[in-house]
Amino acid sequence: MIKQKILIVEDEEHIAEVLIAYCQNNGYKVHHLTSGHGVIDYIKTNQVDLMLLDLMLPDIDGLEICKQLRLFSQLPVIMVTAKGEEIDRLFGLEFGADDYICKPFSPREVVARIKAVLRRADNNVANQSHEHIIRQSGFIMEPNKYKATFKGSDLTLTPIEFKILALLLNNVERVYSRDEIMNQVYLDTADVSDRNIDTHIKNIRKKINRFSSDANPICSVYGVGYKCEQLA
Ligand code: CA
Repeated sequence: MIKQKILIVEDEEHIAEVLIAYCQNNGYKVHHLTSGHGVIDYIKTNQVDLMLLDLMLPDIDGLEICKQLRLFSQLPVIMVTAKGEEIDRLFGLEFGADDYICKPFSPREVVARIKAVLRRADNNVANQSHEHIIRQSGFIMEPNKYKATFKGSDLTLTPIEFKILALLLNNVERVYSRDEIMNQVYLDTADVSDRNIDTHIKNIRKKINRFSSDANPICSVYGVGYKCEQLA
């Protein structure tokens, strides 16, 4: 089996050493960068399967890197933050992170999160690879290419956003509760909350709004959940 590669972006030497050791002991290849500068270039020019991204870096902060990354890539990202850094879990997710761990962390926790996020990413690809292309309300979704466009413009969705949008588009005008969405798009819903779904929907709407000055077909149904409206 080909070893999966993890990019570790961490400026604190001892934490980086620990993370590198955990990853290598669990059979992953590792590349380590000590600052935010160069992260985007590295990802554009190298095969990476997952990034462990420190929030507080000396130059560019982790959220900004995540934001830039999501403009062109669905690479799974786990944010790593120090205890006391006031960041809401949802705040990281809003910028496109897939998960979040807090220092100090245990080796078991880090490895479990890495495995869960990689498994989710693999499953997303596997689940969708045989599905048909969805054409609906100005959207075209090509699961094989993991590509979603709205009115011809690439939406650059994260894997979870892609699954949620595909679910809503496959059954236009049907209202899905947050629980239904969670159960359909996550394999393991243990650490997912309603608010995660709200955040993902908010991000999807924001991405659509970049290309649509008037109607946004993804809407909330008060007290129930979300649906996609039929657009002419
Ligand atoms: Ca740091």
